[in-house]
Amino acid sequence: MDAGLTTLRQGAVAVQGHAIVDVGKSKDLLRIYPDARVIAEENKVLLPGLINTHSHAAMVYFRGLADDLPLREWLEKHIWPAESKWLSTEFVNDATELACLEMLKAGITTYNDMYFFGDSSARATRSLGMRACLGAGIIDFPTVAASTLDEYLANAERFIGNWKGDDMIFPCVAPHGAHTCGPETLRRSKKLAERLDVKLHMHLSETRWEVEEIISRHGKRPVEYLDSIGFLDDRVIAAHCVHIDDTEIGLLSKRSVSVSHCIESNLKLASGIAPVPQMIRAGITVSLGTDGAASNNDQNILSEMSTAAKLHKAIANDPTVLDSKTALLMATRWGAEALGLGSKIGSLEKGKEADIIAIDLKKPHLTPIYDIYSHIVYSAMASDVDTVIVGGKQVIKNRNHVEVNEDAILKKAAEWQAKIAIHNSSH
Ligand SMILES: [Zn+2]
Repeated sequence: MDAGLTTLRQGAVAVQGHAIVDVGKSKDLLRIYPDARVIAEENKVLLPGLINTHSHAAMVYFRGLADDLPLREWLEKHIWPAESKWLSTEFVNDATELACLEMLKAGITTYNDMYFFGDSSARATRSLGMRACLGAGIIDFPTVAASTLDEYLANAERFIGNWKGDDMIFPCVAPHGAHTCGPETLRRSKKLAERLDVKLHMHLSETRWEVEEIISRHGKRPVEYLDSIGFLDDRVIAAHCVHIDDTEIGLLSKRSVSVSHCIESNLKLASGIAPVPQMIRAGITVSLGTDGAASNNDQNILSEMSTAAKLHKAIANDPTVLDSKTALLMATRWGAEALGLGSKIGSLEKGKEADIIAIDLKKPHLTPIYDIYSHIVYSAMASDVDTVIVGGKQVIKNRNHVEVNEDAILKKAAEWQAKIAIHNSSH
């Protein structure tokens, strides 16, 4: 996934410490590095770890709790009440372990999160050997995480101070959205992000309802409103951008805002379909996000690629509109660029961090092979991810985590499920 989209047959990647030191033909690399330990051998395709640019990882514990409902009812009647009942540092820690295990096994090596209790997310993520950008959630109403804007901002600043400079955790500020955060909240979130030099992660124009709400409050469409308060620049990663018009696309491009496309979540909540081909044509960096597991219901970027690539063809009535190479760019290099990590991850190139996955190609549904991009995007499944290396460290071997006790993580989830299910059914 380098600038020339180089594909090597019988290729290899040499890793030393946390970094990629060489990429070339395997026979050449084995000659240069005769003592190298070979990790993934025949019948595999190596590619950069996939990047999930919008998630709420800990929500995996609410997977399947409330389905087949409109977004507002789903969020206000089910998800927010469940969060206010259950969220705690312990919940976020345990749920994030499950989410990271799920993501790693699906070939995701970096995720961009927005949630609360970030220290717990960070510790759980590190314990699974994964990389993450973690946004400290800020919203204009009290939650278990904080009661006032001052408290939310103080929490965010403390969290960022705890993790800034870490090699695996990239903290940021995450004001929830333009309809759930007023102009004062957005301005102060932006100031904090500037002062601490971190990213801003938010939801934007996910539903038609939310767009109308912002127009009635501020007299402008959401992107124009955000621009009028000076919020938009290359710090901002905006999730969804479903209901945006051509003027707004132009403005997002001009301000170098990047967009996380969460197609499966948007489909399931019937929020609509983001104008992705138009955004890409306008020069916007568009990447892929799973969103939380309560609205998707899995953390799987391989399937997001497949869904996005197929759906936009049908919508545009044009099968050339989002090809497999573009889909894989969205899931790798463009995702890295959106997170400000373009020089570190997103492609297999000398000098970059060794975030590498291997997909096992010796499967009926991956045979024969004419075009490897086509196979990765249209045919591969999460269960085909055989090997995952993050920062030079192998974390998944033969489809299993090499360090953590997977059964213990599943058992903890079942214990939480028992508690949550009893409470939920008593309502
Ligand atoms: Zn979201």
